[in-house]
Amino acid sequence: MPLIASQAMPSIFLQSQQQRRLAVQITVDGLQQGLIEGLVDPQKPFVDVAYKNHIEHQKYDAPQTVSSPEHQQDMRFLQTLAEQTYQDPHYLPFFKRLYADNYASIARVGISSTPTISVRNLPIIKTGAKVSGEQGTGIPNFHFVDREEDRAYYFFGNDALQLDRLMQANKVKTMFDRLNYLKTLNCNAQYDWNAHTSYDALVNLGAGEALRDFGEKRCVRELQERAKVEQKLTEIRTQLINDINDYQAIPVWSFYTKLSRKWAIENSIEQYAKLDGKGMPDYTLIYNPWPDHFAHFVGPFSDEIIMPTGELNRLDYWITQVEQTYQTAGVYSRTLWGMAGDHGLAPVYYTLNPEKVIFQPLEKKLGYALNIEKISSDEGEGPKITNALNYPSNKGADVVVASTAGGNFMLDLFNSQQGWKTQPHYRELTQWQPINHQSQASIDLIAETLNALGDTLDYMVIRENQCNEETCEVRLIGERDGERVDEFITKQGDRYFYSAQDTQASLLNVHQLNPYLALPNSPDKSKAEFETFAGYYGQCVLQAKENDPSTWCNESQWRELTRYTPRPDSVVQLAKLYAESRAGTINLFPRDGIGYNTKVPGRHAGESYLEKDAFIGFWGTPIGDNVTPLMTEENGSLAPTLFEYLTGEKVIINQNGWGYPSLLNRLDIQPQ
Ligand SMILES: [Zn+2]
Repeated sequence: MPLIASQAMPSIFLQSQQQRRLAVQITVDGLQQGLIEGLVDPQKPFVDVAYKNHIEHQKYDAPQTVSSPEHQQDMRFLQTLAEQTYQDPHYLPFFKRLYADNYASIARVGISSTPTISVRNLPIIKTGAKVSGEQGTGIPNFHFVDREEDRAYYFFGNDALQLDRLMQANKVKTMFDRLNYLKTLNCNAQYDWNAHTSYDALVNLGAGEALRDFGEKRCVRELQERAKVEQKLTEIRTQLINDINDYQAIPVWSFYTKLSRKWAIENSIEQYAKLDGKGMPDYTLIYNPWPDHFAHFVGPFSDEIIMPTGELNRLDYWITQVEQTYQTAGVYSRTLWGMAGDHGLAPVYYTLNPEKVIFQPLEKKLGYALNIEKISSDEGEGPKITNALNYPSNKGADVVVASTAGGNFMLDLFNSQQGWKTQPHYRELTQWQPINHQSQASIDLIAETLNALGDTLDYMVIRENQCNEETCEVRLIGERDGERVDEFITKQGDRYFYSAQDTQASLLNVHQLNPYLALPNSPDKSKAEFETFAGYYGQCVLQAKENDPSTWCNESQWRELTRYTPRPDSVVQLAKLYAESRAGTINLFPRDGIGYNTKVPGRHAGESYLEKDAFIGFWGTPIGDNVTPLMTEENGSLAPTLFEYLTGEKVIINQNGWGYPSLLNRLDIQPQ
């Protein structure tokens, strides 16, 4: 028993255990902040705007669309919320309390990184690592072509099992790696190879669909058991601290009394050591897949999601259950709670398949076949099976296509003059020659793509030049009022310049206010907000000079400007899209209400506010009254904030694998 050897040590150690900090990190697939805020407070504009857009959804149709999702979205509850006063104490009780007590520590506008895809954003919210660079996840999308390996990845079915391998190869540090000296628990989340107790994510997803709440029940049961043990541990620790103090007070000459007391203490310590691993985890990671999982098939605002019997109320119920175990254990007051979504979702009313719309007419025009490889399934279809060991080469392909979640369609091309492995940039894509070409004439693939997709396209994003983490120029192309619009974002270090070819830049709506968000109630505050917005617009858009990067706005200034707009953090996110070279050659994003290559009414991976606005917020007794309000924050700040709370170690961005800042200094954390 080394603990007893030194006189003061054990009681200090036990004392610190009685006051130790705990954290719970909840990651929810598809949790959107604006939606939750709208549901707990229908006075906010969200519900009205969402319902109005549903009623008027025919405005989203375009001549290029070919069908609609079969499933009709049931919006009766959204209608009820929009038209009546709805009071039900059993509806979202946890979230109502959360918004009432912790409004300042929930980001008004959350940011999911572009593209708003789970396979990209879940590792971000679970680990706090960014995608590109050293110790980055290296996973830009649900699907990508690794040009070094000559291998296409698609993370549905077999390749889902490759995710852990890829993250490990990049030396991404999970929270379990970072906290491996603490007691940790993983409830249903992937990337968990170091959790002390772990329930497998893939098993949960498989079993959970057939047997609802399987993983949630298992997690709560585990925590209930641990809560009982924690009560016992607290008792033993209190007793031990007293015994040790008594023991130290016994005079040395009272040899036998001292010895027998020492044996009693050693006994208690042995009992304590046996139980200690079974007490409340210092750190718990919870993953809940359901709000996203079902929203794809029924629509994000449908009854199945938002009704009192829907997915969000279920989530509310499970969080309450988990919180209860921390109360029972007597550790609630020392626990910091954080939750983030990986993205939100938007409804789909009309669909088309870009692969067919672009390439069928093009093949006809050319008079020969193109070699098109498709690596994804349609959204709503079963998994596509690839062989992990014997994967096919992509060298014979003109183009590799893949799509995700109805909101992102990727075209990978290989005609760079720098060679097959290099991503071709804009100019090369306007002079494309397919493998079977019969004349020397080249094809402007960008013009063909824009013509084919027309008004269904929000915009496409292409590399204007080669990109890396420090510098990049991307071109955005879309159609507005029947006219082609080309715009550019240039990144140089921390400075960003956004401009259009001929006119004022408009594809990213940086001059517009987001209709889903409320301005403050008081006219004075409202005026001040508008002036702040106008000030950033003037500085970032009007006054920035292309040839003088010192006049360009930096990341946080652009973020401040775009948080008012329908596209949170658009400029910075798009400038970073190609920081990871595996991000596809052409990224297509559909307009509101449109789905690319999908059969279902729920979409993400696109660029609308509804998809970008990932929830991120914190609560719990440790948070003080003087929180610096979270206005617009990246979902990747979840893990670093909780890490800093648990360890007291400062998180420095771009060091030690952290890709996002900690928000702990904003939370007015109280000393214990
Ligand atoms: Zn999804």
